Amino acid sequence: MFDFMEMDFNGPNQQTETSGPYIPDAAECLRCGMCVSSCPTFRLFETDEETPRKRIRSIAKLLQNDAITEDERMHLDNCLQCRACESACPSRMAYGQLFDRAQALVAKRPHWLARLGFYLIEHKRRRNRLLPLLRLYLKSGLQKPLRQSGLLKKLGLAEAEALLGSPALQPLAETHASHFDRRGKVALFTGCIAEAFDRETLSATIELLNALGYDVVVPPGQVCCGAIHQHNGQSAKALINTNMTVFNALDVDAVIYTATGCGAMLNEYSNDDTEASESFRQRLYDINDFLLAHWPDQLELAPSDSRVAVHEPCSQRNVLKNQAAVYRLLEKVPGLSVTPLPDNPICCGAGGSYMLTHPDNATRLRESKCRAIRESRVDRIVSSNFGCAIFISTDSDKIVHPLVLLAGQLPSDTGDTAVDL
Ligand code: SF4
Ligand code: SF4
Repeated sequence: MFDFMEMDFNGPNQQTETSGPYIPDAAECLRCGMCVSSCPTFRLFETDEETPRKRIRSIAKLLQNDAITEDERMHLDNCLQCRACESACPSRMAYGQLFDRAQALVAKRPHWLARLGFYLIEHKRRRNRLLPLLRLYLKSGLQKPLRQSGLLKKLGLAEAEALLGSPALQPLAETHASHFDRRGKVALFTGCIAEAFDRETLSATIELLNALGYDVVVPPGQVCCGAIHQHNGQSAKALINTNMTVFNALDVDAVIYTATGCGAMLNEYSNDDTEASESFRQRLYDINDFLLAHWPDQLELAPSDSRVAVHEPCSQRNVLKNQAAVYRLLEKVPGLSVTPLPDNPICCGAGGSYMLTHPDNATRLRESKCRAIRESRVDRIVSSNFGCAIFISTDSDKIVHPLVLLAGQLPSDTGDTAVDL
């Protein structure tokens, strides 16, 4: 039986600069177990099979073309890809990257519903044609009887249907000019569904950027970041290439994303053209970081006596590692009380598409997150990731993007106007 401790890393398969890679990062696993308690699935199941340490062994096997058992496969699939183990690991194991590589090797043909999902993520126009029907369905009163009939469950659509919110039907205008001391122009990355389902955050972002003196362009040719594809063993290459081409062609000071889940993927973009990848990443900014770095001294926000807790999405804590920026931005609201949500290190269960593929595990993790929200006794929770917010909001109506809260405190004369620049 394969045992990671018995591998001869100095033998002929050892990676060297000249002989090509041999599972370089997995080889750094010491099996020390320091990642174990940070893993949400270990918290759920309390077995060694549900730990990063065990999964890294399965990944190592797959990457050296050894078979893994069905049982090992199942435990590997239970991973939320939250990457908390990366943050805990003294060897700085590149778990996320290794997981994606292993997934690409073993990915089976997806279920027809997943194939439909991938198709709609890839084809914006076709996706947009469905939005009026969705809106009609949500207004029709059919939701309750359909849920009660059990049909949605039989079709495997119950989890996705429970997350549905009313979509915005009109696309965002392509340009939004600032009417204040103009300082530059930025491009906004909207991803695949935020334009329809998280318009509130995108509008708040534009409003804030305009208030700081930046014109905002929303390039219509942009596509999904590719995270859902990549983390499910599908190729994200076409999506990555399209986004690089679209954004690299723009004459802007920065490319800004608002959802940390997308940001984590965008920051790890690479393709065969290294120069293009580097140019893309050089101008890439998280909205929280950008606003902090460019906040003008004279811009003062209205005070608030609310109490707010910050939910730190895994993509922000474990990949972008810029959660401090959210607290510093919220400090700009005089009187606002800001605290971290107590169980921030543990994933809320959303995990990209995990909430749809592993609803039981995801729901248990969400219950524990919502318990922490109730116990925190705050007025609002802020989260910088749309995926987490939409999942948690099915159980708690307190969650918003921090930018929505900030934009609400802007002086009244800083509103956005969509015009041709
Ligand atoms: S903390 Fe890192 S080195 Fe230790 S067992 Fe986990 S993955 Fe391996
Ligand atoms: S990515 Fe998250 S769920 Fe997966 S092994 Fe690491 S800590 Fe556990």
